[in-house]
Amino acid sequence: MIQKNVNSKKLKENINSLLKNYIYKNRNIECCPSCGGKKYIKHGSYKGIQRYKCKECKKTFSNTTNSLWSYSKKDINVWIKFVELMIQKKSLRFCAKKLKISITTAFYWRHKILHGLKLDSVPNKLEGNVHINKTIVIENFKGCRNILTTRRSNIWIVAAKGDEDSMLVMPTFRDCWNWKTFDEKIYSKIQKESYIVAYNDRYIGVKAKAHNKKIVKEVKKDDRVGYIMANIMEWFAPFKGIATKYLEEYLSFYILFYLDKIFNYIDIISYLSLGSRFIRIKEIGA
Ligand SMILES: [Zn+2]
Repeated sequence: MIQKNVNSKKLKENINSLLKNYIYKNRNIECCPSCGGKKYIKHGSYKGIQRYKCKECKKTFSNTTNSLWSYSKKDINVWIKFVELMIQKKSLRFCAKKLKISITTAFYWRHKILHGLKLDSVPNKLEGNVHINKTIVIENFKGCRNILTTRRSNIWIVAAKGDEDSMLVMPTFRDCWNWKTFDEKIYSKIQKESYIVAYNDRYIGVKAKAHNKKIVKEVKKDDRVGYIMANIMEWFAPFKGIATKYLEEYLSFYILFYLDKIFNYIDIISYLSLGSRFIRIKEIGA
């Protein structure tokens, strides 16, 4: 679940010092980001952030090097506001105008954030009662130039949720059900002792029957899985269509809105700041 507004004014006022203390200090530097050398020395500070100099390649870096915003010239506060607007599902045009950044910058930022969130959002395993459903969306070429075909494939999205507070919602097949892909991407995560709860789909029904052997349990339905189609449609509406090539990324963001844990933009920023969850602009492939 996403908490849209954080009312604590104090939190906003102290955001910079919070970030510096909490994020940067917790971020370990194991080696020089340029050459991988382990010998470095303190080398002054910039905007209150400690800098280091590598003794081997002589390059300087800081705790923020390779973080989400390290290649950005914009203030961290602009990034934070951007994440806040993203949680509110504001359009790129709206974000650009409000934060005085270009639409191109807004586009890249959104994809950097989505990519960072995608890295960990998929659960490694599904345990207990595992609810599974599917929905189909039509392929979307938004933003693509030179489309030579009028044909649109069906994209199958599978949603699976076990007892843990995480969920798997991913584009799984194109055009038709594929057992091999299903086993690789979904079934491999389902633990042996778990019980599959299938929702109105004959393929999932077949799998559930085989997996559950002869056991039939009364399990309370989970609306997050049961109403996956309606939920996705509603959640996607403000984006006015999502290009299929970015669908997986958007769905990893979508999941956060449907978990029990409450996230706010500070949590998301902190999360994205740990480790090297950045993606360089050239890898986004607009
Ligand atoms: Zn170095």
